[in-house]
Amino acid sequence: MGSFLRDNSAYELRTVIGRGLEDLMTVNLARYKPTGEYVAIRRIDLDSCTNDMVSYLQGELHVSKLFHHPCILPYKSVFIAENELWVITPFMAYGSARDLLSTHFSDGLSEQTIAYILLGVLRALEYIHQMGYVHRSVKASHVLISADGQVYLSGLRSIFSLIRHGQRARVVHDFPQYSVKVLPWLSPEVLQQVRLIYTSCLKYGSVRYKNRTMLLEKLNGTVPCLLDTTTIPPEELSMKPSRSGADSGICEGPGAGGARHTNGEPSSSSGGNPYSRTFSPHFHAFVKLCLQRDPEKRPSASSLIGHSFFKQIKRRPSEALPELLRPVSPISSLDCMQPQDSPTGLASLESDLSQLDVDDWDF
Ligand code: ATP
Repeated sequence: MGSFLRDNSAYELRTVIGRGLEDLMTVNLARYKPTGEYVAIRRIDLDSCTNDMVSYLQGELHVSKLFHHPCILPYKSVFIAENELWVITPFMAYGSARDLLSTHFSDGLSEQTIAYILLGVLRALEYIHQMGYVHRSVKASHVLISADGQVYLSGLRSIFSLIRHGQRARVVHDFPQYSVKVLPWLSPEVLQQVRLIYTSCLKYGSVRYKNRTMLLEKLNGTVPCLLDTTTIPPEELSMKPSRSGADSGICEGPGAGGARHTNGEPSSSSGGNPYSRTFSPHFHAFVKLCLQRDPEKRPSASSLIGHSFFKQIKRRPSEALPELLRPVSPISSLDCMQPQDSPTGLASLESDLSQLDVDDWDF
């Protein structure tokens, strides 16, 4: 645990920058008074939590103490203040990958940006697996980017230990609780296992329509692939329809046009419109490897780190990412921000960060 004070009076709360844990948690930007630095505070109203939820949260806090890795979001302090659990982490000035997608890159990020971000995520996962755990909640809102372009994986709440009675299990049958929002990102075999939960989610409408369709497709065996000029059917390419399901850069697999590679060189691998972009064959191959139906065939995080897709990474993320994310700039001039209820300065931050409330990455 870091060395920040376990006293809520040491923190000056600023605007709300996110929500989570089925809306029981509020994430605030805040200033740590002793040093003046900015932090993010996850505040959870413990009175609204069941006993089960509290033990679940305890599990997260336990692993956060064990984990020390440059690609995992560090916890600076954890304490209880007036029946709220306060978890203090460094403030990530670019927000999450989901924030970037929903506010600035609605057609998707460029291939290079994705490569830098994914490499950070894989390094974090490799470490988590070496420590004997599985993350179980890898999604864009749990990938955070700091002002200096470092990538951090968060979302340790659903983490699960593979070690049982001194043995390392190969398969996990436990489903993460309080994680309905993670359903669209689960593998087909886990989705099969939680079909009951999934059915009730459909029934009660807690999964958005597009995500529901994607869940059904996944259960029916459709394998997604990257959406670009090599996978969009030629007849559709010539029509250039407006943004049909193109938001995530993922389409519905070989049925959507098969792999028609260009001459191998990407004509445009920037985010951009899927009807004019072409991702590299390395990227297509990488996605295909990861999305194999048979879990036994899917490569581990460690082996994916050596994939040719990452050969395009020539610089440190801190040098490359801020440049690649332009024109987005990290929220740095926070000194003009006023405490929580004051309207001054909040509007611009709200427009950048509070769109966190928009729905999860569309498929
Ligand atoms: P869910 O219930 O969807 O799984 P969660 O409870 O795991 O969410 P987080 O994803 O940790 O909650 O936080 C919600 C959002 O708040 C993040 O997606 C991000 O946009 C914002 N956020 C959280 N921590 C930080 C941080 N340290 N710096 C900047 N933004 C943050």
